[in-house]
Amino acid sequence: MRRTACATSWSGEQLLITGDHVLEGVSPVILPPDGNMADYLNSIDKLFAYDFERIAPGHGDLMDRGKDVLRALRAHRLAREAKVLSSMARLTEATLDTLTPVVYDDVPADRHQWARLTLEAHLIKLLREGRVRELNGIWRLRPPDQAEGAPCRIAALVERAARRPLGIARHHLAAAAG
Ligand SMILES: [Zn+2]
Repeated sequence: MRRTACATSWSGEQLLITGDHVLEGVSPVILPPDGNMADYLNSIDKLFAYDFERIAPGHGDLMDRGKDVLRALRAHRLAREAKVLSSMARLTEATLDTLTPVVYDDVPADRHQWARLTLEAHLIKLLREGRVRELNGIWRLRPPDQAEGAPCRIAALVERAARRPLGIARHHLAAAAG
């Protein structure tokens, strides 16, 4: 994810300008292949090092208590990740199509096509961590004693995502789902 942030002084106020890394009111879609949930969360963590009070997001109004905003974003993503894992435990095996409406049952169905992409970003993170496995589009939890990295599968998934046609501007997929 090639998003950059900078902290600046604006009328004497410390502002963090995030671009579309942070949006007001919606969660940016993390879109494989260049969107990776692990990288996104790592990038959020890096922002805590800046000195700022408010965030100027890529879309929306200035956001007060900027570091609380970042903490909430992080918590939101990790709560979603926990829901991915608990949903997979219930379903035993799942495809992106069967998992999306379960994990995003709080998101309107017309946004599920974008939610599905962010779900894939979550799964790639979990695959990299050895917590899930994937074969022919079927996803399963990986028992802890079998946990190991799966670099070949990750490369194949990212390559497949890169070939996916998207007739839309990627960075403006923002209004979808977290
Ligand atoms: Zn934008």
